[in-house]
Amino acid sequence: MLTALLNQQVFTTIHYSREELRGLRRKDVSFVCPHCSSRLTMKIGSRNIPHFAHMSDADCEKVRGETPQHLLSKQLLYDRLSSLYENVSLEHYIKELKQVADIYVKTDTADIAIEIQCSTIPISEIVGRTYGYHRQGITPFWILTQSLKSKKLLNLTTFQQAFIRYSPPLDYFLLQFLPDRGIFQLYTHLFPVSGTAFMSAAPIIIPVSKFTLPISIPDAPVLHPYSLSTWTNFRTKWVYNKIHFNKTRTDVFLREVYGEGDTFLYLPLFIGLPVIPHGIHIRNHEVEWQYYLWKDCLKKDRLFSVESVSKALYRRLIKGHIELRSFPLQKSDEVIKRIADGYLRLLEEVHVLRKVNDTFQLIEPWSCPDHFSAFEKHQHDFFPKWKHILKKQ
Ligand SMILES: [Zn+2]
Repeated sequence: MLTALLNQQVFTTIHYSREELRGLRRKDVSFVCPHCSSRLTMKIGSRNIPHFAHMSDADCEKVRGETPQHLLSKQLLYDRLSSLYENVSLEHYIKELKQVADIYVKTDTADIAIEIQCSTIPISEIVGRTYGYHRQGITPFWILTQSLKSKKLLNLTTFQQAFIRYSPPLDYFLLQFLPDRGIFQLYTHLFPVSGTAFMSAAPIIIPVSKFTLPISIPDAPVLHPYSLSTWTNFRTKWVYNKIHFNKTRTDVFLREVYGEGDTFLYLPLFIGLPVIPHGIHIRNHEVEWQYYLWKDCLKKDRLFSVESVSKALYRRLIKGHIELRSFPLQKSDEVIKRIADGYLRLLEEVHVLRKVNDTFQLIEPWSCPDHFSAFEKHQHDFFPKWKHILKKQ
């Protein structure tokens, strides 16, 4: 904690030098917790930011154990926001919610609660806190400060994925704060190639001295180092992994493909197209959910619409064959409909479907190649159309 009560007044360590704080500690003045009124000790090391701690963690429900990273993040963000707004408070207690926001900003138009998240907590807690803030008319702003695994692809845990948000110029993005370097990294144009690996544009660096609410993006062009031209490779890799690591008899998806008499290895390339941007909401690989749509809808009905395809996706969701990612910081209205719409448009672009008024129709009847040379021919015919789609991204 960076704040305590001293003689009923709020006292914040970050406004004092280490020497001044040591002087106060020598005088043995009595700092108490604003939440549970128990006495606090002041910790003044040479490395960490001076802060208060309970004598024992069990004393207080409101204040969780804090890492040096968390303390530093609070100080940097508090300093920056205090230079922008008059009314900024640290470790602000919200009576109605019985919880403490790391930083609280009152502007002319909004109340903003900043939550700095270093440790992994249940996603249900993020959902609950976010909902609570909205109910009180407060805008929550969550900041992830965990380190991310990033090489060619960005690898994100389910918890880290919960911080993904959407904004049209950035598509799906993730904001990460690195307090030790005093910068934010903004990963934009995220698109998954598996349950945990994501393609992204090169991260945009925003120094904390440029941080604003909402965050403003520098005007530099977005770089796409890992373009979708590699999508075919990721798709193929996924298909082979599926065969290697799954038992055909127990895999729900493979059982359905074989039951239908289709050859999994030779599924047409228009099953497994990247539906950018909203396809990210579905945790399953594109091959899986798009195959289900073919089976349930496209090859069965003569004419179909965005609505009928959306309904088919919902039915698979309810059966548990398809799973959605949890993006609690992001409104996900009509996401299924947007995905269905995006997929049908793609199929129209690659000349698999034609549009007839408000409905769609297959241009040629469905057939799955059943041996390698037939698949090769399909690849050969399809690739020019597909290449055009991938190049656009
Ligand atoms: Zn306390």
